Amino acid sequence: MTTETYVIDQPEVASLPVRGTEARFPVHRIYCVGRNYAAHAVEMGHDPDKEPPFFFQKSPTCLVSDGKAIPYPTETADFHHEIELVVALSKGGRDIATEDALGHVWGYAVGLDMTRRDIQAELKKAQRPWCTAKSFDGAAPCGALVPAAEIGHPDRGAIWLDVNGERRQEGALEQMIWKVPETIALLSRFFELRAGDLIMTGTPAGVGALRPGDSVHGHVDGVGDLRLTVA
Ligand code: MN
Repeated sequence: MTTETYVIDQPEVASLPVRGTEARFPVHRIYCVGRNYAAHAVEMGHDPDKEPPFFFQKSPTCLVSDGKAIPYPTETADFHHEIELVVALSKGGRDIATEDALGHVWGYAVGLDMTRRDIQAELKKAQRPWCTAKSFDGAAPCGALVPAAEIGHPDRGAIWLDVNGERRQEGALEQMIWKVPETIALLSRFFELRAGDLIMTGTPAGVGALRPGDSVHGHVDGVGDLRLTVA
């Protein structure tokens, strides 16, 4: 390990807790997949409506973990939840083959792709980038990671989100249009992936607004739960 001298104090390394241990997972980048769940159940196999997915990024500094409350952001009146399965990579690469992709996965978590929906709508209309809609402080609440060595690679089962005890979002992992291995393979054609990268894999139907004081409970079968409040 080299010891660098920096001209300012080194910024904190973003990281996530790992379930059942004090050790943490250091986060390098966060990639997000755009629309990735069909409105209706998709059986295993070919989807005739399959369009190539699109990607965007959030800064690792958007992460909120360890049960901390998420701050209600400035400059929005429509702060939307998107429950997502989060994939954490232990190994990077370019042009990763779909059949090798799961070998790059360290583990999984339950996360939220929080969105300033009103800002996003304006940006879409103006054909501008989504940065202020997607990558702001508190925009990536995420639960503890669980190692694939422990739970395998979840590709079936429920994904849902309750707000104040009421079901808002509900779907199933098998409804993902682009599965985790395909997503990793495609991303690796655009970016050299690195250990420490996270991928938020898209959200099922039912997105909606959160308000200050709301209590949120997200769940992904085989991965776990994420509970938080909005400050
Ligand atoms: Mn999303």
